[in-house]
Amino acid sequence: MNKVYLPCKSIAFLIVRHTFTGRIQKLSCIERRYTQTTIQFPRTMSTNTTDRQNPGLKKFKAPKETLRHVKSREQRKRAVEVHGPAIVYAQVVGAGTRDNGPSLYVFSEFNRYLFNCGEGTQRLMQEHKLKAARLDNIFITRMSWENVGGLSGMILTLKDTGVPEVNLSGPPQLEKYVNAIRVFSGPLEEIKLSVRPCTAETQHTDETMTVSQIPIRANFCTDKPMNTMNSGKNSPSRSPQIQEPRRSVDSDDTGRRERETSPGGKAQVTRDPALVVAYVCKLHPKKGNFLVAQAKELGLPVGTAAIGRLIAALKDGKSVTYEGKEIHPEQVCTPTDPGPAFIVVECPSEEFVQPICTNQQLSRYQVGGPEDPAALVVHMTPERVLKNDQYQQWMERFPSTTEHLILNEQACSAHNVRSYKIQTQLNLIHPEIFPELKHYKTKETLATLNTPNVRAECLLKFQLRPKTEWQRDALLSCDTEEFVKEAAQVPNFIQEVEKCKGFSATDAALLSGQAEKFPEVVFLGTGSALPMKIRNVSGTLVNISSTQSLLLDCGEGTFGQLCRHYGDDVDETLANISTVFISHMHADHHTGLLSLLFQRERAMTVLGKTFSPICLVAPVQIMFWLNQYHDHCEEILRHVSFVPSKFLCEGAELPSVKTTSLIEALLKKSDLEKFQTCLVRHCKHAFACSITHQSGWQLVFSGDTMPCDALVNMGKSATLLIHEATLEDGLEEEAVAKRHSTTSQAIGIGMKMNAQFIMLNHFSQRYAKIPLFREDFNDRVGISFDHMQIRFGDFKIVPRLIPPLKSLFAEEIGEMEDRREKRELRQMRGAESMEEQGTLNAVELGRGSKRVPEEPTPGVENKRLKAN
Ligand SMILES: [Zn+2]
Ligand SMILES: [Zn+2]
Repeated sequence: MNKVYLPCKSIAFLIVRHTFTGRIQKLSCIERRYTQTTIQFPRTMSTNTTDRQNPGLKKFKAPKETLRHVKSREQRKRAVEVHGPAIVYAQVVGAGTRDNGPSLYVFSEFNRYLFNCGEGTQRLMQEHKLKAARLDNIFITRMSWENVGGLSGMILTLKDTGVPEVNLSGPPQLEKYVNAIRVFSGPLEEIKLSVRPCTAETQHTDETMTVSQIPIRANFCTDKPMNTMNSGKNSPSRSPQIQEPRRSVDSDDTGRRERETSPGGKAQVTRDPALVVAYVCKLHPKKGNFLVAQAKELGLPVGTAAIGRLIAALKDGKSVTYEGKEIHPEQVCTPTDPGPAFIVVECPSEEFVQPICTNQQLSRYQVGGPEDPAALVVHMTPERVLKNDQYQQWMERFPSTTEHLILNEQACSAHNVRSYKIQTQLNLIHPEIFPELKHYKTKETLATLNTPNVRAECLLKFQLRPKTEWQRDALLSCDTEEFVKEAAQVPNFIQEVEKCKGFSATDAALLSGQAEKFPEVVFLGTGSALPMKIRNVSGTLVNISSTQSLLLDCGEGTFGQLCRHYGDDVDETLANISTVFISHMHADHHTGLLSLLFQRERAMTVLGKTFSPICLVAPVQIMFWLNQYHDHCEEILRHVSFVPSKFLCEGAELPSVKTTSLIEALLKKSDLEKFQTCLVRHCKHAFACSITHQSGWQLVFSGDTMPCDALVNMGKSATLLIHEATLEDGLEEEAVAKRHSTTSQAIGIGMKMNAQFIMLNHFSQRYAKIPLFREDFNDRVGISFDHMQIRFGDFKIVPRLIPPLKSLFAEEIGEMEDRREKRELRQMRGAESMEEQGTLNAVELGRGSKRVPEEPTPGVENKRLKAN
């Protein structure tokens, strides 16, 4: 096995170049890690300081390997020698739908694997409790965002879960991808990332199986666009190592440093769209079981010390002689299972058909090949490629015992069931504010295949051992009626809904029914840190008119949320988005951008609209990441016209002529009078924004921040303030440490600003269903939920939704209140005991309460992943 470790030197180099980003991520890590607070926290903070002050001195730590890890690995080794894996199955995570790209999870009692990791994969794994604890091998079939979009978030989560090392196999560009994500993820020193590029003869062997990587090259000629309508991308083929002048996105210091690193102002481009990697996975053989009853009958000394040696020999297939009698293995052992093989192959377009169909290594597992035929072939292949005759003939060359699993957009499977469930229940409260979720249905017709095949569904399993068979016990049901019934049984819920409806029918009808249809605000992600089943990470769509929309932040999975919100209308929605604002470089705010850009291009092609780049308003640091991705993974730069956020601050230095005209175009396109930003109190380069429409309304978005006066000034008398409220009241210290706001602080900012209405979002994932708030909620405050959509005419109704919401989530609120009471009690006791010591004064009260053991925060984020 050729392990290629990322050279420490280059990592150190990146730390130096992106000192600011290292610090940014440290804060992000803090956000992500609620269970490990007290000890980890000060350490992380102090690391930050060191980072900032003297980045060069930063030590590169070896990944932690606990005694538990060492022990479990040894146990696994012993177990393998004796048994081989007893249970192995492959399970569909993402079935290949437009909102959940293809990904496959493979489980054995020793190892967990993932084949491809698009956006939303970790959210699905969290929702459906797929164990991440030993997920230390990720295989990528092609360097495309559909396959790697969720990888950065997954790596951070695995790091938080305590996985010491992750092996990434696939295209050699994965190494560059990992370097690119360091731009916002920081040094990632707690997890060892080994990239195993698919150069010739790469094999991975562990306790479960041997995985061979098979590089396959498309034979398309240079500059002929690759026909991947699946993603709507046009990626001209390029041979590796081509030099191309970097497309100038904007002259305002974006990527300038990058350019300096390559001579002649040319970027070293290693993009290789002609490469896919197929995987042949062969399970280790499993020795037969020793049959005690038969052995006794034949007179073998069962139950004595002498039997051990005999069993070992018989299981090894050797005959033994006992008391003059010869015993053959087949008399007392079940047969050895030689170990089935399965193949994972992606054929993204017709150009790959011939190279796949003629590949010698793959044909070894077909009829007449030297190996036992494959038990399963997993096709990550779009329908139009399945229609290709040559591909069909290739499928037919596997024997009838081979099963075929197809993952593509034809799959009709609800993946995010919890999301559908909560929305169905919220819909009972207000059908317009909480519209029913939809499914996107592909327009492509189904291919007629002669080979029997199975279409993927989320959680569908194919068991490879002990017995090869399909298993459908884990399949999901999305029964709307059941969800409604469940809600109806919640005490007081229906009564509260009726009361709320009564109100809507009278006063609110005047406001809501006749109010303007636009602007409309659609909350796509309202949770912080990492995507979870109920709340996805940041993303808010502002529909300015029927043809103009703007997106505020774009965390991982934002496109999936759009897809479920708009169903078949998602293309129109995407085509309407002309501007994206990214508040800061934390992973929960921007890692969904690339899906959005690729899918938007696809939407425009489908709708026959002329492609135009999106106007991206973001911190300049984003361009380092986009540049790296563009150079080594996929073309992306032509999708954006970049406006650095800093140029939109009041009194900012004058941008270049080009940027000025971009800003003018942005305003004109969306009928805006002003688009302003200001720096906020979170990490370095974190911005809030304010948009003022020509008709007079003003919308202010805080991004992540502590209470911030600059934001108050920018948003004076705004129509709507969307403010983060990560934590509940009483957790002010934690909020300061993590540089976030509590609910009351957020409301306070809105009051100071004299905002007409305040919507709270970005809740810590510990408040999965509903945040905890005190009674200072007034008639100018609303709580956001994923897929909630409001118009300015709804301001009167939104606060009225709180009583039915409280009854729907009464159980969760009760639990949260219990935790709060316990915490307050502990704080009080801590204060009292200090008073007894006579040390109580204003300064020390603060310190003292810190010393009180911190509430065992529910930390759902980590706990669930850990438990898994
Ligand atoms: Zn955040
Ligand atoms: Zn943040």
